[in-house]
Amino acid sequence: MLLVTLEEGIAGMRCVKALQLTLAVVKPDAVAHPLILEALHQKILENFIIVRKKDLMWRTEESEKFYAEHAGRFFYQRLVEFMSSGPMRAYILARKDAITHWRGMMGPTKVFRARFTSPDTLRGQYGLTDTRNTTHGSDSIESAKREISFFFPEFNADEWMLREEPRFRLGLT
Ligand code: ADP
Repeated sequence: MLLVTLEEGIAGMRCVKALQLTLAVVKPDAVAHPLILEALHQKILENFIIVRKKDLMWRTEESEKFYAEHAGRFFYQRLVEFMSSGPMRAYILARKDAITHWRGMMGPTKVFRARFTSPDTLRGQYGLTDTRNTTHGSDSIESAKREISFFFPEFNADEWMLREEPRFRLGLT
């Protein structure tokens, strides 16, 4: 029989995070279509706690900075111009395994591949081209932290977690 003291149980609960944060962005191609934007919003509501939501538009410099890791690649200029071509919607989302869950909902980067291998994903359903592929999502804990600060500099993730995670465990969120 496995016996765990109350202290050990509480310590274990503190280590295993019930909630994870991720950054999700609805890109200009999807925001331009109100029905697609609404469909994406509904799917997000069904799957996540929406922590913050913001509609915004980038200048070219912000687009270049956010995608600096792709500088020099053949699609970089196209990507930078596209991401500053119209309004976007950014979300901070929370749930267990938020990063992989949202990436799974988005589907593969390349729309042609998404259409054929994962037609039920957001990119499979609504993506137009490899660049205009509806959504962005952080791909690691580190990038989620960095990208959340990029879009929501005023948001304090540690503070939010400390306050909300115990409430979530108790079913209050
Ligand atoms: P993801 O958005 O799936 O994390 P990446 O980080 O590799 O993918 O790329 C960032 C964005 O750059 C993609 O979402 C897409 O808009 C664009 N992109 C990536 N690869 C290509 C490509 N081969 N052709 C055109 N655009 C691309």
